This record gives sequence, structure tokens and C-alpha cells, in this order.
Amino acid sequence: MRAVTVIPGVPGSLRLLDDYPEPATEEGAILVEALAVGICGTDIEIIEGHYGEAPPGTDHLVLGHEALGRVMEDPTGTLQPGDLVAGIVRHPDPLPCPNCAVGEWDMCRNGMFTEHGIKALPGFARQRWRLQPRFAVGLHPALGEVGVLLEPTSVMAKAWDHIDRIGQRAEWQPRTALVTGAGPIGLLAALLASQRGLAVHVLDLATEGPKPALAGALGATYHSGPVDQLDFEPDIIIECTGAPVVVLEAMCKVAPTGIVCLAGVSTGGRTIELDAGALNRTLVLENNVVFGSVNANRRHWEAAAEALARADQAWLGSLITRRVPLSEYASAYSPGPEDIKVVLDFTA
Ligand SMILES: [Zn+2]
Repeated sequence: MRAVTVIPGVPGSLRLLDDYPEPATEEGAILVEALAVGICGTDIEIIEGHYGEAPPGTDHLVLGHEALGRVMEDPTGTLQPGDLVAGIVRHPDPLPCPNCAVGEWDMCRNGMFTEHGIKALPGFARQRWRLQPRFAVGLHPALGEVGVLLEPTSVMAKAWDHIDRIGQRAEWQPRTALVTGAGPIGLLAALLASQRGLAVHVLDLATEGPKPALAGALGATYHSGPVDQLDFEPDIIIECTGAPVVVLEAMCKVAPTGIVCLAGVSTGGRTIELDAGALNRTLVLENNVVFGSVNANRRHWEAAAEALARADQAWLGSLITRRVPLSEYASAYSPGPEDIKVVLDFTA
């Protein structure tokens, strides 16, 4: 069968193989036919050779961690043939650490977790794959192709879950949320904020292209200037750019008792001037919290599936700016300036 692969650590090794083996039954009882795979920055980093790890005993890693498929057979009866399904990306470490032991593999403490399409597990960019029931998430049948957004939505469902838990340290009645960065992750963060009834603000450098209208369609206010020029102090900030200046301004701008969730990954190597004393003074005197968030556990995947089912399907569909047939796979990994989410289409 066909599979999109790389040799991790070798730039330019991206290939579409047509003789990749069928998924082994050890991968799981549920056999799934691939419908689509979403592409994100992590895939590009793996293709450039900066990241990624092949499964033990092989050189090749199948890409793809944002999956949408249709169940072909499930002898366990967990799902029915024809059901839409996504595969949970991260599997717990084998030790396991205290968090993995209770299913909170998103909070793995020893780094020995594995991840489909990223770290030591084959990805979903192959025509068929298998899942164990505990890593299979069924999707509402009406979702169709936008179900491919489940993985990035799960990452934001986790961020919001942790914001809620941190908020519980005191009386917590947030009214305003600012999302910095209007890529797919940022827009999905804004969607979840709007579903919570918050006044949502989205900030991004882009003044053209689809981002302002997509934010507007959620009822969010769109900003394209610097964070420190905003005329209000957000109760919650979800930082999705990873840009050092934006990160720093977000930490300084959040309202007293506010929460800043850092969800953007910086590349590092860029230095900016920082008055660490002034920042510390603000955080202490305002009881602010800054925390990092990555990945998602099963609870978050299920919350994300509910959030997508509740969302405007046309809005979700407009996040997918390009659908690339498998035969033209290489172009899917070269996003254009106006792309939000590019999807590799296994049905074309
Ligand atoms: Zn662990």
C-alpha cells in the first residue's frame, strides 16, 4: 500500500512508497482506511531532518499525526464499520511514569513516550492503519472531512482544561480571552474560547488573507498591532506564535490573577532584551500564572470531538485551505502564505 515516509535526520528523504507493508495486527484490532491527514509545522521539521524517530528496527518513519479514517473492521465491537475515527497520537511510556500510569501521557515525565508519525510509531499517512480501542476516538458522523481537525483541537482542549484547573485556585470569573497567532491552533483556541462564552480577541500580524474574517465569524475582535498596545488587559492569554516578543508582552499584559498559556514552540536562538526583575514583580504582585501546554490525553480528545460537533461546520471547513491528492503529496508539505490547514487527501 502507499505511505508517505521520511528517513528521520535525513533532509530531502520525503517519499511516497507504494509497497509499504500492511499494518501488523499487533498495532491494534481496529483496521482503518485512511481518509485524510492534516499537515503541521512538526511534519515540516521532520522532513527538514530536525526532528523525528523511526520505529525500532527500521530506517523509515511514516509521517502523519493528524488523522481521519473510516473503520473497516473492529472485532472488539468498540466501533462499527463505517464509523469516522481518529487515532490518539501519543502512547504512554513503557515504565510507566506516574502520569502515564493513569492515562495522562500528555504530561509524561520521563520523555520515553512514543508518538504516531513523530517518535517511534508509524504515522497515519498510509492507506490503512490499525488502532487499539483505547487510542481510537470515534467522531460524529456529520463531521465528515473536518474531522481531520480533531488532533489540533485536542491540543487546545487540553490547554483549556488546564486553564480551568489553574483558575480553580481562587474565585475565577474570566471575561476576556486573547489568542495570539491566528494559525490553525490559534483559531481553534479562539473557537473553544467562544464556546465558553468569553469575549474573544485574536491577534496576528496578517491584515490580509482569510484570518481576520475567520476570527470575525467567531464573534472575535481581530488585532494586528503589538500586544502591549492593546487597550485592555485579558484575563486569559493563549500564546500560539512562539515569537519571543509576543511571549514576553503576553506575560506583561495579562490582567491581575490572569493566566497565560504558552502553546507556541519557539525555535530558540533569538535573543531579546528582558527586564526579568520587572516581569517577576508583575507576576508576583498580580498573582499571575504562566504555564506551558503540549499534546493531549484521551479526555481532551473526547472534549475536542464534542467541541467540533458543536461548531459551525462551514467555519471548520474554511480552515482547510487546500486539499492535496496523495499523488501530489510533496506540494502538501510546502504551505503557501495564505494556507491555514493543508490536508493530504487519501480519497482522491
Ligand atoms: Zn510517562
